[in-house]
Amino acid sequence: AAASSPAPHVAVVAFPFSSHAAVLLAFARALADAAAAHAGATISFLSTASSIAQLRKAAGGQLPANLRFVEVTDGAAQVPAAAAVPVPRQMELFMAAAEAGGVKAGLLAARAAAGGARVTCVVGDAFVWPAAEAAAAAGAPWVPVWTAASCALLAHLRTDALRADVGDQEASRAEELLVSHRGLGSYRVRDLPDGVVSGDFNYVISRLVHRMAQVLQRAAAPAVALNAFPGLDPPDVAAALAELLPTCDLLPLGPYHLLLPTDSSSSSSAADPHGCLPWLDRHPARSVAYVSFGTVASPRADELRDLAAGLEASGAPFLWSLREDSWPLLPPGFLDRASGAAAGGNGLVVPWAPQVAVLRHDAVGAFVTHAGWASVMEGVASGVPMACRPFFGDQRMNARSVAHVWGFGSAFEDGAMTRDAVAKAVGELLRGEEGERMRARARELQAVVASAFAPGGECWRNFDKFVDIVCRV
Ligand code: UDP
Repeated sequence: AAASSPAPHVAVVAFPFSSHAAVLLAFARALADAAAAHAGATISFLSTASSIAQLRKAAGGQLPANLRFVEVTDGAAQVPAAAAVPVPRQMELFMAAAEAGGVKAGLLAARAAAGGARVTCVVGDAFVWPAAEAAAAAGAPWVPVWTAASCALLAHLRTDALRADVGDQEASRAEELLVSHRGLGSYRVRDLPDGVVSGDFNYVISRLVHRMAQVLQRAAAPAVALNAFPGLDPPDVAAALAELLPTCDLLPLGPYHLLLPTDSSSSSSAADPHGCLPWLDRHPARSVAYVSFGTVASPRADELRDLAAGLEASGAPFLWSLREDSWPLLPPGFLDRASGAAAGGNGLVVPWAPQVAVLRHDAVGAFVTHAGWASVMEGVASGVPMACRPFFGDQRMNARSVAHVWGFGSAFEDGAMTRDAVAKAVGELLRGEEGERMRARARELQAVVASAFAPGGECWRNFDKFVDIVCRV
């Protein structure tokens, strides 16, 4: 940069719900570290007050000096504080406020907090599409970060064409492969994310991603970060995305959690209050099934009991991250049997696990997952094969990718998990021949991830490119 140009001031706009904000903060921390080399760049991380409080707590003080939190409105000012507002309603309030000037106000607050230094680039979770207009008004480029799978982005960008094709026949054509849609030929109509051709088009997330897709195609962003590594998706996915976003540099540089050094992600005992890692230390390599459905999904009571029974029937040791409000729904005696208070205990149920460190542990040989995108990427980065029980959103599409595109796992095809299906899937992954093939496939991709994140690897090169683009002043 010329001596007269200001230091870059990059605003990073979060979508303050589910696992989105944490993923974006990890991204922003990596950006802050890299950007420090660019003439003292600073990062303003924009999120709502409650999201910032949560993120600060989880980060435990380990934040770069050139990263500052800036509050944006949650849009909930009119809602009585005592009312427990359901999350979808919170999302609606946030997005409405964001569209009505909330992001613009956040950018002004960022500028004020930075002593008047104007925002030179707006990076943001692609979900928060009003950031595009706010960036334009501030005279800064908008550079979106996509946190989910590339094929899900493709499905959102193709929503109008998919709706025109499928119409109201989504039930009768559920099994049909989408062969006439470039890049989507491995997916069935029923694998598409909720709100594309099925589900409630008026649900807040359906409307949000539809609008996002329109804005993305108009905004001419200089780049989009993709949460995937080169070599993961079949070439026609990248080609189809490039065709739909012709002016963007599409930069696969994920899984984003690998942008941070390992020691700053959660492997300390402070991050493992329930003792998952010491418990895993007591088990042989590849013997344990790890079970988690992420931060939002919850199986219904009957399915939860079937899963519990299936884990017991598998005979495998299991580590299960399950929110405590679901514990009363477990079969009678299950927790006692698991913990060994009764004879033969071989399970640990915890309200939260340090998942990245758990999946990296040698003892873990199988992952029963809802196929949330972060979970899939964390599993594959550790070479762990998985059994997918997708619930909503893009999870069916991810599960389809795992089982049929990449082949490092299986999917519970008919929705709910039954006792026998769980026992069979877990036994197969830990001890079966098919499971061995899935593990080999997971390990192959693990090696691809490792080389993409080795010094000078493709993900680092793409990240450097991303940093250069967002630090241009
Ligand atoms: N996670 C964790 N411990 C748990 C459960 C979840 O660390 O006990 C983390 C997990 O590592 C992942 C995120 O929460 O990074 C879940 O994200 P994902 O996209 O898989 O699912 P979502 O929660 O968005 O449905």
